[in-house]
Amino acid sequence: MKVTKQGRIIKGIGGFYTVLADDGSTCVCKARGLFRKQAKTPLVGDIVEFSYDEEREKRERTASESFCDAAHTAGGSNGYLMNLLPRKNELIRPAAANIDRLLIVVAASRPEPDLLLADKLLVCCEKLKIDPVIVINKCDEDAEGSAERIATEYERTGYRIYRVSAADGWGIAELKAELEDAAVCLAGQSAVGKSSLLNALLPGIALKVGSLSEKTERGRHTTRHTELIPVGNSGAVLDTPGFSLLDNIEIEPREIKTCYPEFRAVRGECRFNGCIHVSEPDCAVKKGGENVISRGRYERYVHLVKEAEENKRNRF
Ligand code: GDP
Ligand code: ZN
Repeated sequence: MKVTKQGRIIKGIGGFYTVLADDGSTCVCKARGLFRKQAKTPLVGDIVEFSYDEEREKRERTASESFCDAAHTAGGSNGYLMNLLPRKNELIRPAAANIDRLLIVVAASRPEPDLLLADKLLVCCEKLKIDPVIVINKCDEDAEGSAERIATEYERTGYRIYRVSAADGWGIAELKAELEDAAVCLAGQSAVGKSSLLNALLPGIALKVGSLSEKTERGRHTTRHTELIPVGNSGAVLDTPGFSLLDNIEIEPREIKTCYPEFRAVRGECRFNGCIHVSEPDCAVKKGGENVISRGRYERYVHLVKEAEENKRNRF
C-alpha cells in the first residue's frame, strides 16, 4: 500500500533526498519527473510531501538500521517526492530553504569582531524573515571586556544575545535550546569558532576545526554537501556554517532602515515621511542619539546605506 506523508528534506546527494517525516521516521526519496519539468530543484530544508510503498519498507528495514540507512546501503530509494511546499526563504550559499533562525557568531577575542558583517547579516535576516540570534564566542579569552561592549552595542535591537565558550562549554546548554524548535544556520567570520560551536552543541558530528589557511586549503579540494542535523523533536541545524550574504539578497537603500528594530521606537517622528535618518533635517533618530541606537550601529548603518546607493548606481 502507498503511504503519503509530509516531512523536511535533510540531505540531498546525487538525486536522492533523505526526508525526515513529521512522525520522526526517515525515508530516502527520488524526485519525480514532475520537478524536472517545472525546473524545480529540491533543496535541503524543503517541506515536501512524499510517498512510499509500506510493504517494501517493512521488507527492507532491518532491526538495526533505520529505513533511511537501509536504502543507502542498498544504493536505492524507497520513496518519491510528490510535492514541494511553498518556501519561506531560499539561501544560495549554503543552498537551503526554509531557514528559521541564524546564529550570528562573533568572537570576544580573536579575530577582531567584524560588526559590519554582523550588521549585514542582521539586515539579511530581516529581509529573509529569519530570526537572528547574536552569539559571542571565546568568552574564556575575553580580557578586554569585549563581550560586554558588543552586548551593549546590540542591546536596543532586542535580539537575543548569548555569551558562550565553545572551548570550555560555558553557556552551550542555554544556546542549544535555540536549535530545538527551528531550522538553524550559523554564520560569521572565519575562525570565530562556528565549527567548534557545532561540535560543542552536537557532540558526535565531529566537524573539522582549524586555522583560516587550513580551511581555505581544504575548501579548494572538497565539495561539501549541506546537511540538516535533527535536534530534539522539531529542530535542526545546518552542518555548513557558511551563510554568505552577498549571494543571498539585494536591497534598496531606502529599505535598509526597515531592517533596524531600533528605529521602530521613533517611527513617524521624523519631519519627513520618507526620512532615512542620514542627512535629513529634524530627524528623530539623530535627535534621539544613543537613546535610539548605539553610535557604532548607527555609523555602520550610514555606511550600509551609502554602500547600497553606490551599488544601485553601478547597477544602472
Ligand atoms: P570557524 O572558522 O568559525 O569554523 O572556527 P573554528 O571552529 O575552526 O575555530 C577557529 C579557532 O578558534 C580554532 O583554533 C579553535 O580551537 C578556536 N576556538 C573556537 N572556539 C573557541 C573558544 O570558545 N575559546 C577559545 N579560546 N578558542 C576557540
Ligand atoms: Zn529620520
